Amino acid sequence: MHQTTELISEKYQDDGKPTHRSFTKVKATIKEIDNILRTRQPSVRKSHEKCPLCSGNNAVIFAKKTSEGLPVNRQICSNCGLVYLAEYLLPEFAEEFYSKFYYRLLYRGVSAESLFENRISTKAFSWKRHQYVKEYLGKSYEDVKLVIEIGCNDGCNLYPYHLEGKTVIGCDFDEERINLGRQVGMTIHKGDVGVLLEKGYQADIVILSHVIDHLTHPLEILKKIKTILTSKGILYIENPGIYCEGNLLGLSRFEFTYWFELGTLQDLLDLGGFNLMLGDETIRSIFVQNKDVTNLENGNNNGRTNRNKRAKDTLKYLKQIETENLKTQSGMIGLLKKFYYYLKTISD
Ligand SMILES: [Zn+2]
Repeated sequence: MHQTTELISEKYQDDGKPTHRSFTKVKATIKEIDNILRTRQPSVRKSHEKCPLCSGNNAVIFAKKTSEGLPVNRQICSNCGLVYLAEYLLPEFAEEFYSKFYYRLLYRGVSAESLFENRISTKAFSWKRHQYVKEYLGKSYEDVKLVIEIGCNDGCNLYPYHLEGKTVIGCDFDEERINLGRQVGMTIHKGDVGVLLEKGYQADIVILSHVIDHLTHPLEILKKIKTILTSKGILYIENPGIYCEGNLLGLSRFEFTYWFELGTLQDLLDLGGFNLMLGDETIRSIFVQNKDVTNLENGNNNGRTNRNKRAKDTLKYLKQIETENLKTQSGMIGLLKKFYYYLKTISD
C-alpha cells in the first residue's frame, strides 16, 4: 500500500488529545484503549494490503487520530474514494472492544433502561426507519411476515414491527440491552449473524442499522444475509453518510472502520450482489438481491461514477468541512473571550 499524508487540519495529528470536551467523561476508558493500541501490537490491528472496495493500493491519510484522541490512520482510497481505517481490528480485540469499551464510549454514563425508553418512543428514529421501509413497500408491506435485525442492540428498530404483529428477530452481544428487548416480547439471540444462519430463518426484511460501517470485512456479512433473506426480500441499511454530516466529530469516533457516501456504499453492495432501489446521503437505503455480481476491478460500474474524481471531491469536501468547523469553533472562542473580558470589566 502506497500512502501519502494530507491531514484535513493540524487538529488531526496523533497527539493523544480528544477533539471534543464530551470525551473527558470517559477519560479512563480512552486511556485504557490507547494503552492497548500502543503496547499490544501486532495482536490488535492489521494493515489493509489493498483497498477493500476496489483493490487499489494508493491512499491519502487525512487523520491520524479519532475524536477520542486514539491513534489511527484514517485514509481515502485515491482510486475509488472509499474512506477507511488503514489498520483494521483483529477479531480478538474487536470482541474485547465491543463487549467492554464500546457502549461506555458511546453513551457516556446514560443507563440502558432510559436509552431504551427514548429509543422506542414514537418520536424516536426507530419509527422513522420503520416508516421509510413501509412507504417503500407500499401495499406489499402487508405480506411481510418476518423482520430480522443484525446488531439490534436493545431491539428498538424491531419494536414498531413487533407492535404491528410482525414476527421480529434480532441478534447482538450485550446481555443487558438484549434483555430489555426480550422483556417486551421480542426474540433476540446472543451472538452475530451466525446464530441466525443456524436457525434457518427466511426474512422479508433485514435491517443493518449503524452496523456495516463498524465491520472489518463487510462483504462477509452480505454473503450471509443472502442466505437469510427471501428472494424478494429487502435489505435496509442506515449509517452516517459523509455528505450528511456537517460536523466530522460523530464520524471520527474509533468504532467507525468505514465512512460511506451513498456511491461507495452502493459499490460495496454491488460487489456483495445487491442492487440499490432507494437511498439518500443521510444514509438511509434499500437494497434487493441481484443475481449478477459485479466485479469492480473489471470496471463494470454501469457507467455510474467516475471514481477517481469521487476520491478527489470527497477529500476536498472533508477539508472544507473541517475548515468550516474550525472557523465556527474559533468564532465561539472569540465570543467567549469577549464575554469574559466584559465580565472582568464590570467586576473590576
Ligand atoms: Zn478503492
